[in-house]
Amino acid sequence: MDNSAFPSRARARISTALAVPLALMLASPVTFAYTTFGNGQGSKWDDPTWGTGATIYWSFMTPGVGLGASAPSGWSGTNSLGTGGPGDIRTIIDAANGAGAFDTALQRAFDTWSTAANLTFIQVADGGGDFGSSTSPDIRIGAFHFGAGDLAGAAGFGPPGDDLNFPDALAGDLALNDMNNFAIDPGNEGDPLQTGPGGLYLNDIEGLLLHEIGHTLGLGHSDVLDGVMCGYIYPGDIFDGSACDYYHVNRQLAADDIAGIQAIYGPAAVPAPGAAWLLGSGLMSLLGLARRRSK
Ligand SMILES: [Zn+2]
Repeated sequence: MDNSAFPSRARARISTALAVPLALMLASPVTFAYTTFGNGQGSKWDDPTWGTGATIYWSFMTPGVGLGASAPSGWSGTNSLGTGGPGDIRTIIDAANGAGAFDTALQRAFDTWSTAANLTFIQVADGGGDFGSSTSPDIRIGAFHFGAGDLAGAAGFGPPGDDLNFPDALAGDLALNDMNNFAIDPGNEGDPLQTGPGGLYLNDIEGLLLHEIGHTLGLGHSDVLDGVMCGYIYPGDIFDGSACDYYHVNRQLAADDIAGIQAIYGPAAVPAPGAAWLLGSGLMSLLGLARRRSK
């Protein structure tokens, strides 16, 4: 159902080094299986220091833009997403599920990540460059023809090694394969995915986008079978990927996915004002209680 590809320099940095200190901190046999494109530094948006949050700007690539020189070999066509033509995945999804359904699924995928870690996503207008040829905004989403026989649903490219000093035009680009079949699965989390023509599983668009956005944020593949970031093997990957569960609705992050994204960006931001007030008032009550007791 899915594929991924990364800037080559990012791929070389895949590491599980963080799994050991995290496990030690927890003082339990739990280990994490997530992988990242950085190794405790960089391959994240904004400040390359791990544990710092990021504000990430994203756009839909302008309909009709081409494939730049950095596109994977075998890809062809121009960006079909948003054209309104017969191959436009947004048109297909909205026709089956109602106007706005595609954009809602995408927004939910962004929200799932920003609920888990210190991330803010802001949609902006696209600058109009070809795939892989613009450093602004950070994440750009489009759809092209992948190579003949390529069954991947999409590909997401990781963040720059150093976003502040060395912006990378390919970094953050997310391409759907418009030769593939997509749907919004009617089931709930964990339900079997519906099948389409030929008995093939349809790509649930929210789950797929959730996974690909994970790549654009700096996460590689894990071997957690029901994890959002579970993935196939590629040269350089550490997992054979043969048993990932691509057959059930998966729109919620596993604990391992959350640990991975929090290692890079830190936990989700400040508590809501109401929660802060409750905490403060709780402390006051405790202090008052202590004072009363001491008398
Ligand atoms: Zn992947």
